[in-house]
Amino acid sequence: MSCIRSLLLALMAAFAVASEPLQVVTGNTIVHDLAARIGGDRIAATCLLQPGVDPHTYQPVPEDMRRLAVARVIIINGLGFEGWFEGLVKEAKATGTVVVASTGLVPLKMKNDEHEHAGHGHDSKGGDGLVDDPHAYASIANGVRYAENIRDGLIAADPAGTESYRSRAVAVIDELRATDAWAKKEFTRIPKAQRKIITNHDALQYFAKEYGFEILAPNTALEDSQPSAQDIAALVQFIRTNSVKGVFLEFGKNQKVVEQVAKEAGVQIGTELYLDGVGPAGGPAATYVGMFRTNVESIVNGLR
Ligand SMILES: [Zn+2]
Repeated sequence: MSCIRSLLLALMAAFAVASEPLQVVTGNTIVHDLAARIGGDRIAATCLLQPGVDPHTYQPVPEDMRRLAVARVIIINGLGFEGWFEGLVKEAKATGTVVVASTGLVPLKMKNDEHEHAGHGHDSKGGDGLVDDPHAYASIANGVRYAENIRDGLIAADPAGTESYRSRAVAVIDELRATDAWAKKEFTRIPKAQRKIITNHDALQYFAKEYGFEILAPNTALEDSQPSAQDIAALVQFIRTNSVKGVFLEFGKNQKVVEQVAKEAGVQIGTELYLDGVGPAGGPAATYVGMFRTNVESIVNGLR
């Protein structure tokens, strides 16, 4: 009897462990999507940020602290992308393993223009006014590295799931590589001289480097809700001088200025780009791959 009882208890314990998903908390929607796909049923992934919420201006709520406190794994983009998140992890006295998705990537540098990137919480190191550009995911090659780091982080926290995380990561990475190859083929439809992008957010450096684009205008005028008439005139002139074919709006950001610039410069406005996170649930840009594909389609349609 006692033998059966202990067997039952052991079975119950095993079942409890197997059915208790690993609590994983992320601070941006791109990392969340990759984690949810690689983790599958073994994890319960919570993203503190909803699609369309600007990571530049996010105000944490008390519920975020509670979620962080119970998290077994905390995954961040790193490179200063979620400055508020890193502080919150400390405040919540979180004990979960912190995984930095961008680990191992060589960061590009960007101007530490508080006007443009206040919410990313960049710290200027070295006094040259330059900081690491946190938008590394804008290149799919970097996204593969994100997936590998997330896979390894989940395996370290939950070794029993090694096989599952590995095989799911293979599928994710295959899809990323296929998306990368598809994008490179798509971009050949844009004449080289027209591979210039203007948008209201300086988030495409890694993208530009990987796919052979030039990001024109440092966007200060576009990011500002109240740019001077002079700023707008300078940007319009810039678009004309450089024969820029179109400008792009960013999902969730102030679009009035971009619309005004496009009208004055006489260029078309491309479809919205997703630069700081995925699009709304159920939409075509709701995943990292979907967001990237949507951007590629918008850029090809706007510039070819
Ligand atoms: Zn950004």
